[in-house]
Amino acid sequence: PRPIVIVGAGQAGAMAARSLREAGHRGPVQLIGDEAHPPYERPELSKTLFQSVPQTDAMTPDEAKRLNIDLSLGQRVVGVDADRCRVTLADGSNRDYARLILATGGRARNPMALSGPRVHRLRTRDDARAIALAAPRRLLILGGGWIAMEAAAAARAAGLEVTVLVRGPALAHRLLPPAVSDHLAALHRSHGVDLRLGVSAEFAVDDNAVRAKIGDSEITADMLLIAVGIAPNDDLGRHAGIACDGGICTDAAGTTSNPLIHAIGDVASQPGPAGLARIESWQNANDQACACVRAMLGQPLSARAPLRFWSDQFGKRIQIAGRPTAKARLCNGPGDGDRPFWDFGDFAIGIDRPQEIHRFGSAPRPKTARRQPPKPTGPGRFLVAGSAVTEGA
Ligand code: FAD
Repeated sequence: PRPIVIVGAGQAGAMAARSLREAGHRGPVQLIGDEAHPPYERPELSKTLFQSVPQTDAMTPDEAKRLNIDLSLGQRVVGVDADRCRVTLADGSNRDYARLILATGGRARNPMALSGPRVHRLRTRDDARAIALAAPRRLLILGGGWIAMEAAAAARAAGLEVTVLVRGPALAHRLLPPAVSDHLAALHRSHGVDLRLGVSAEFAVDDNAVRAKIGDSEITADMLLIAVGIAPNDDLGRHAGIACDGGICTDAAGTTSNPLIHAIGDVASQPGPAGLARIESWQNANDQACACVRAMLGQPLSARAPLRFWSDQFGKRIQIAGRPTAKARLCNGPGDGDRPFWDFGDFAIGIDRPQEIHRFGSAPRPKTARRQPPKPTGPGRFLVAGSAVTEGA
């Protein structure tokens, strides 16, 4: 039989391959990735930047072998012939498929097209290694999102001088209410990050240094890290003639406008409360891979858990459950009276007390202590506050 071909051996691709076996699929599965590494965890790249710590694979070659998954690394898929159900690799070879899963993720944006040995981005394990190997003393980071913030925190922990330039008025200002952004800005500044908000810089990069000109002042650094978001790798979807709009358009289970082609993870633009949107998160990549496989095999879909997201900065863990928006309110946690959290309506976010999420419904006081964030079973309100992870009745 023709195989199920998964393009992109990253978080979503590895989870899809594993889920196929877990769901009882016995037919051939091919997982094709263009990186030299087996699938690996990206979240730790920014959190452990400049540290020499063992990195985690999302699927080891041994696991792939045990699950009888044909894992091809260092192979780029360059074309999809949707009529013949066939993909073409960069070496000119073809692979036929019964079903195709596109799990190609995204690439770090470089809107000013800056280049040179002192200019870096952070998406891959190789990117992280190159940044660490270059061993800068003064690091300039462009961007105010999660990866920029985590890289800044990791760089300060490694003793670097860090300047962060943010074009927007606040850190992650489209995702977070001002109170949370302000809190994060204060956290970074208290750890010695030179954080400049609302600035627009011109860059001059040569072999010796990076210079950022902001108005009349100039900052010189050894390295520029551009961390201004990603663009989806949706070119194969376009090539296949399936609907794409800021990513490959899918239904809730990852099926595209071609019923034999699916898209999951960061590249997939899936239905959400405000229309189709891509969700760049580890949990989404995993959950969507599982949902896609179940739908493909005709198995019932379980309810999707609300989104959860975490970030580690300066020893703090920030946890978000749900979809962040800037419209959250500052409240006090029930049962923990004076401890603040940001109420987003459906969920909340906490910063100061890591690992502490309260879920509450009608019950006034949480009862059961847990070490892990609660596994949500349906729509609920999430709060972050308090001194122990608890779940309300
Ligand atoms: P990826 O993991 O990017 O995998 C896609 C793979 O497809 C890549 O290996 C790519 O090279 C390959 N590929 C692309 N095109 C082709 C082709 N044509 N042929 C063959 N292979 C191809 N999320 C969180 O929830 N919490 C975090 O704390 C967090 N931290 C992060 C920190 C960093 C530095 C980064 C980069 C991401 C972080 N994320 C985090 C996001 C999370 O890692 C991603 O959402 C997740 O990796 C998406 O999985 P994916 O499989 O869609 O894409």
